[in-house]
Amino acid sequence: GAMKETLGFQTEVRQLLQLMIHSLYSNREIFLRELVSNASDACDKLRYEALDKPELYEGDGELQIRVDFDPQARTLTISDNGIGLSRDEAIEHLGTIAKSGTREFFGRLSGDEARDAQLIGQFGVGFYSAFIVADRVAVVSRRAGLPADQAVRWESDGSGEFSVETVEKPGRGTDVILHLRADEAGGDGETFGELLSGWRLKSIVTKYSDHISLPIRMRREEWDKDKGEYRRLDDWETVNQASALWTRSRSEITDEQYKAFWSHLSHDGTEPLAWTHNRVEGRAEYTQLLYLPAKAPFDLMDRQRRAGLKLYVRRVFIMDDAEQLLPAYLRFVRGVVDSNDLPLNVSREILQESRDVKAIREGCARRVLGMLEDLAENQPEKYAGFWSEFGQVLKEGMGEDFGNRERIAKLLRFASTQSEGDAQTVSLADYLGRMKEGQEKIYYLTADSLQAARSSPHLEVFRSKGVEVLLLTDRVDEWMLSFLDAHEGKELVSVARGGLELGKLEDEEEKKQAEQVAQDHRELTEKVKAELGDAVKEVRVTNRLTDSASCLVSDEGDISGHLERLLKQAGQ
Ligand code: ADP
Ligand code: MG
Repeated sequence: GAMKETLGFQTEVRQLLQLMIHSLYSNREIFLRELVSNASDACDKLRYEALDKPELYEGDGELQIRVDFDPQARTLTISDNGIGLSRDEAIEHLGTIAKSGTREFFGRLSGDEARDAQLIGQFGVGFYSAFIVADRVAVVSRRAGLPADQAVRWESDGSGEFSVETVEKPGRGTDVILHLRADEAGGDGETFGELLSGWRLKSIVTKYSDHISLPIRMRREEWDKDKGEYRRLDDWETVNQASALWTRSRSEITDEQYKAFWSHLSHDGTEPLAWTHNRVEGRAEYTQLLYLPAKAPFDLMDRQRRAGLKLYVRRVFIMDDAEQLLPAYLRFVRGVVDSNDLPLNVSREILQESRDVKAIREGCARRVLGMLEDLAENQPEKYAGFWSEFGQVLKEGMGEDFGNRERIAKLLRFASTQSEGDAQTVSLADYLGRMKEGQEKIYYLTADSLQAARSSPHLEVFRSKGVEVLLLTDRVDEWMLSFLDAHEGKELVSVARGGLELGKLEDEEEKKQAEQVAQDHRELTEKVKAELGDAVKEVRVTNRLTDSASCLVSDEGDISGHLERLLKQAGQ
């Protein structure tokens, strides 16, 4: 072939390939999901580029994916007539991993095959999964718009290198040709050769790719009575549903289909926690299909992380991770928004300014909060699972989404002096319901750890009166509290503040006694103050302690001890 060259894989790719080949025996079928999903992405990209340049269709506008096999040659071929790859693109996209998360990917491998297989999808290393089942992979591709003799043939045996050469290919798009490995049963007892079956391939396609909005076609087969086997015909039939799931009405979609679409979106083998699917009419018209995942991704706490919804405009795919469609504190939500109003040539910049997008963002936020409220009310165990994975992120909403602050406050969960273990399970409503006769405030304590909080001397007086105190130990808590000064008319106050008013919780007798005690010990406190000098502002006698001899408190206007430590750590 013309200008054949051999190149080395990037180190990370090499490591990844090793991993694929040696550790994914029980989850072989995912390779087809990944390759079909790439074919579908390639068609989406063509459709998008062709909005400006319709000539890219080259007279063939019927986008489709084909899956075929050859039992004699032991090959499987996945073809598409999408955007295709130029020679340079093949070298770049099929020789390196562009994503910056690769290092993290390797760090997160657990050795547990099923979990590692999930990671593979999440990190966008999908193409290389072809090497799970193949010991040689060839990609023959022509980019839309390039002449027929400018196609590329990429080939590799998955060890250290790949070759590229310039070849001819009349039709645009990509054929991925897998040379199956020698037979050897995997964890599920299936041999590679068993993939060379129309029935078997169809069952994988429907399992993983039913909702792909393009037709996936395979050769029709006919039972041959004499030979006792299937005979393949030359006409192609569509084997998937081939309509975008979200365009169908809710009543026509089974839970299984919603779940399959989730694993397509998320590349996640776990089931979603919940989803909501609606057609919204009014000022902005759009369809939303939003999922709550059960597990947090590794980079959840990174607010810069590109995360968001897939945006479609009138069924045309526009972009992944359109983060403008959701506020940042809901960045764990995955899903699709299909707008009827936005222009097809919408860019990220336009999205930032569009009023339609603002309406969509608000609508999506409301839906997600509704979904969470519903879980909290009707499936508290699921909500507890959600909270332990994503609670810290949801708390950011207290500062970010003023309009929904009340709703978010109701969704918050805390540890408290009355909860057990580490779990944050107490809602503000629970707290209000347990308030003591005469208690007017919601009391809380912030600390670096729950252990530190529970052993704080500040809690003594509350314990003795049986008054519950919320214990806040997450990094975002101090910041969040600055947006949560009251709930249902009850002020939130820190038990670590000086001059803490217990209000009616303290009876007259106790107050008088306290004043008397202060009088009696004036001499002592003055001495202690003189001894400590500028290290403290004031030394007081208190009735707050029942077991400890002394404790530090901060003044009303001062920042709290915990925040002070945090700021010091941050070098402030
Ligand atoms: P991802 O799909 O997450 O980008 P993959 O490893 O699955 O990662 O694919 C890597 C890249 O290879 C894709 O981003 C794309 O540029 C290119 N590619 C893979 N398959 C095809 C295809 N069928 N047509 C065009 N490009 C493809
Ligand atoms: Mg992919």
